[in-house]
Amino acid sequence: MTVLASGSKGNATVIAAGSTRILIDAGMSCRELMRRMAQVGEDPEALDAILITHEHLDHVAGLSVLARRLNIPVFFTEPTHRAWVRMLTPRTTMSYGKWLELMQREKEARAEETAAAHMLAESDEVSAAGSMEAESAELLAESVPAAEGDTAAPKAKADPAFLPAVEYFRAGHGFSIGEIDINPFSTPHDAADPCGFVFHARSESIQMAIATDLGYIPPNVKMALKSVDVLLLESNHDLEMLKNGPYPWSVKQRVLSRVGHLSNAAAAEFLLRDYDGGAHTIVLGHLSEQNNLPELARLAAEQAIGDRLSLLGNRVVLAAQDAPLEPICL
Ligand SMILES: [Zn+2]
Ligand SMILES: [Zn+2]
Repeated sequence: MTVLASGSKGNATVIAAGSTRILIDAGMSCRELMRRMAQVGEDPEALDAILITHEHLDHVAGLSVLARRLNIPVFFTEPTHRAWVRMLTPRTTMSYGKWLELMQREKEARAEETAAAHMLAESDEVSAAGSMEAESAELLAESVPAAEGDTAAPKAKADPAFLPAVEYFRAGHGFSIGEIDINPFSTPHDAADPCGFVFHARSESIQMAIATDLGYIPPNVKMALKSVDVLLLESNHDLEMLKNGPYPWSVKQRVLSRVGHLSNAAAAEFLLRDYDGGAHTIVLGHLSEQNNLPELARLAAEQAIGDRLSLLGNRVVLAAQDAPLEPICL
């Protein structure tokens, strides 16, 4: 597992086993994703597929440009794909009445956003909070074909949601890409059909899992995360920092809700009560830059793992927003 980026400004992780390499989410510009892969010695040309957890911009910002450039298939659930297409081409997929409604909603959202912008020096969770916001303009500019001198067919020029190939999966139904078996599980989050994944390297009996962007950890997620060797787990915010922080009330409510993001305390609660202690590495991810400190997230997790930390060779590492993590190899 190689975490290229984790946080509300962009998420992407490479999972590789044998000769199969999959990119999970493409939440930064194509150029930045390529740059980070080069930094950690990953060859983008060697990627076999892109797998998407959900349609929020911090998970799909570079998707169409990257998929077209590499000419590889993208795996979504059908509702996530539909939501993503709607996001890129709202006018072509709705009636005029609906479009007017959307314009009105966008106008309101913009007004809200302007108000929020006055309060924040830097957008963090806010960018993921609504639909298409502040930094999204910049990110989106790169996700339309013309932005990077794309050489795709003319059809792609006309359709920002054009992809070389789309494959659907369903939460709860396992599928395979090359030598990797994948179990997608539903996560509670405010997107169309959000998922986490467990990856099983068939030849090695090694399991890795990604569980970020979830308001809480329901029983199906606890089940899915049993006996994994590497776990990328969300540790989004410190509750006190969020409550006392600069976000508008509505955004705080959204982050805290059962379809928002996992707090340090909730991640620690899982590690204390439900985690079986067998992982080689636990990666804490999707840390908020506004409402968390890496030391707080680490402390909460390490205290929860307690004695099991040294006993079983567990280690806790923190994924970052601004730089890739060293590849975790088993
Ligand atoms: Zn996210
Ligand atoms: Zn999200």
